[in-house]
Amino acid sequence: MTKRAAPVVLVATSGTGKTTLAHRLVHDHERYVFSVSATTRPPRSGEEDGVDYHFLTRQAFEDRVARGWFAEWASVHDRMYGTPRSELAAAASRGEHVVLDIDIQGARQIRAAVPDAKLIFVLPPSVDIMMARLTGRGTEEPADIARRLETALDELQAIPEFDYVVVNDDLDECLSEIRGIVEREEAPAPPEQDADGMRRRIVELLEGEYSAYRQDSE
Ligand code: 5GP
Repeated sequence: MTKRAAPVVLVATSGTGKTTLAHRLVHDHERYVFSVSATTRPPRSGEEDGVDYHFLTRQAFEDRVARGWFAEWASVHDRMYGTPRSELAAAASRGEHVVLDIDIQGARQIRAAVPDAKLIFVLPPSVDIMMARLTGRGTEEPADIARRLETALDELQAIPEFDYVVVNDDLDECLSEIRGIVEREEAPAPPEQDADGMRRRIVELLEGEYSAYRQDSE
């Protein structure tokens, strides 16, 4: 029997290319669908409502929280983000892996609500690269950099809670590693090794053989 298509949760420190990974996974492969989150942050240039996020006012977001509309939600850097339950349900009904690009607080809630979700932590290729991406090009406010570093520290400390850690050195390799993890786990489980059942069958077989042998020799 095939297991149901498990949700895939990607978490990474800032600047690791997690959003690109999530979109490529979905774009290149059938059976992977992107979970479009809701957020109260304004759209960035190039972002489309309903495609990258559902952009909501704080009031609209809070109303949906009250109505239990989210499978998980969290406040990230003073903005609210959440995964609509409908995103998980739609993917499950179609047998698709839903890919969640969410933060650590959300990943913990999904872990509790959906035990078979695959939690994957994505690391950048090296510590130097990680630090360069976290600290930016010196054009940002020191307070923003400090906040990003603090978030990264929290996330890195949570790595033991994850099922897998992958390194995003080469995008294509990282994608195939993630697919390997997800699809390997999806393969049908091997039949239970039932030692008692095996023993019984061996005894039955041998008894049959021996009785046939004894009849032959009589
Ligand atoms: P950004 O504003 O840069 O798109 O995302 C900021 C952070 O919020 C990222 O870590 C992103 O993964 C996270 N995020 C995006 N959508 C959700 C969501 O639905 N739930 C949670 N908990 N975090 C989210």
